[in-house]
Amino acid sequence: MSFLRRNRKEPEAPPPPVAVQEEVTAQSYSLKLSFVAKSSDGLRVMGDPNAIGTLPSIVEPLSQTPIEVIEPLPVEYAEAAPALERFNEMQQWVLARREVGPIGRHGLYVLEMTDALDMTVDTFICGLLHGETDTSGYPEYNAIVGGLASHFDELSGELIVRAVVGWGGKGLRGDTERIGQKLLSSLYQQVVASGFSLGEAEQARLPQAGLRSGLTCAHCGFEAQSASAFYCPKCGMRMVRS
Ligand SMILES: [Zn+2]
Repeated sequence: MSFLRRNRKEPEAPPPPVAVQEEVTAQSYSLKLSFVAKSSDGLRVMGDPNAIGTLPSIVEPLSQTPIEVIEPLPVEYAEAAPALERFNEMQQWVLARREVGPIGRHGLYVLEMTDALDMTVDTFICGLLHGETDTSGYPEYNAIVGGLASHFDELSGELIVRAVVGWGGKGLRGDTERIGQKLLSSLYQQVVASGFSLGEAEQARLPQAGLRSGLTCAHCGFEAQSASAFYCPKCGMRMVRS
């Protein structure tokens, strides 16, 4: 028995040597995409319709193009994301944003991919702030898009406004960072100077998405991330408790 087992374990004869294959000629393809976004801290703004209506006029003097006001995603498109390989999210995004122009769409793409915007609650007031577009109207990689993003504070119901800028694509240019930072500061200062600002917000961003509180806004259907929310971060209406 023992010698049989030993025999079985004996390694097989090594395969005959194969001729070393010449290296195959390869065509190389690569694509480097780079996106940069910046968001300021939040400023508290009185939550009245007058103040909200003023936001586009704050961005206007700094924009080279007419301002687009891009609303937060409707509840039925809450999963929408501009991520090409996630087909369901992408399909929702296309449906939800089909009316948005090339500059707004580029802005959403850059700022959503970098998480500088959360379009489940943010309203995005957007324009082309610097640089050129291509012949189809899409901003070049070194063009800067942005403006203001706003949502409502869940506890106070105040509007929280942030300056946001973004750029990028198939390249980056050295001086874009500096110009982007300057534009971000200008936008922020303009909100401060508008007279509607009540000061800095303690927490500009919402807690991480994906939490289930079971508390849903009766007006827009948004599910608050915290069960203690008094106001809907998306539409600013008072949450109704049953
Ligand atoms: Zn709501």
